[in-house]
Amino acid sequence: MGRMVLMLTERQRVILRQIVSPPYIYRWAGLLTTIGLVVGVTVVVLADAGRETVLAGSAAPAVSAGAPAGIRARTAEDAPARGMPGFARPAITSSLLTVTDTGTDRPAVALTFDDGPTPEYTPQVLDLLAQYGVKATFCTIGNQVIAYPDLTRRILAEGHRLCDHTMTHDATVGFNAHDLMSRQLGTSKDTIAAVVDPPATIDYFRAPEGAWTPALDQVAAETGMRPLGWSVDTLDWTQPGTAAIVASVQQGVHPGAVVLFHDGGGPRDQTVEAVRQLLPWLQEQGYQFVLPS
Ligand SMILES: [Zn+2]
Repeated sequence: MGRMVLMLTERQRVILRQIVSPPYIYRWAGLLTTIGLVVGVTVVVLADAGRETVLAGSAAPAVSAGAPAGIRARTAEDAPARGMPGFARPAITSSLLTVTDTGTDRPAVALTFDDGPTPEYTPQVLDLLAQYGVKATFCTIGNQVIAYPDLTRRILAEGHRLCDHTMTHDATVGFNAHDLMSRQLGTSKDTIAAVVDPPATIDYFRAPEGAWTPALDQVAAETGMRPLGWSVDTLDWTQPGTAAIVASVQQGVHPGAVVLFHDGGGPRDQTVEAVRQLLPWLQEQGYQFVLPS
């Protein structure tokens, strides 16, 4: 090396010294690191795309045979919802869905109403449920419960179940540190429960926007609440029209289904009208209305 340096011209030695001395050495290191990262990420992305293609197609059975069949679907469904505006894909696991055992041979369906209570819509929903003798689950927001305690008490008094939907509809709660998440769920659960004396039992928690994380699942359990998902999403919050909300239930309902409606968070006239049509229809189909088990 020393000999090589000696063979260089004075100008080349100056350039070489500049390259290997601070601050230039840091710039070179930075540049090489950046190139390395770009190449590395590209390779990983291409490799992943290749695997997806293999799993999706039937052209290469020899390769896909070695991969677990569920990889692709699981990856898509478990994608965290963080950062997505508005509706996010719910990460539903089997533990979030069970409503099955009704003790009868009639198929069961559980209706759930999120983001209330609201004075505009919750009373209308309660009136309809009472008219058909249907019990439902209301995933209430803590601040709404504080604002409308009488309405919350009416929900309980009429035999419905309350579910914790956080204090402020915080869809990022599942990404917080464990202790903070614990305090958040404890606060919302206690706030909702304290609307009556003695406190109501709050056995269920539903993540705002379905933004579940394994940690949130865990903390909900530690706080004494079972994660409550859904299997039929009416998308009623997008206000697609009453007919579309009705159709989503008529086409998607199945024995053991958990149906997601909203009685808060925006105009819900379409939801109320859809529920008015769906309650008799579901009864005609032989469905029994239950609370999630
Ligand atoms: Zn919600």
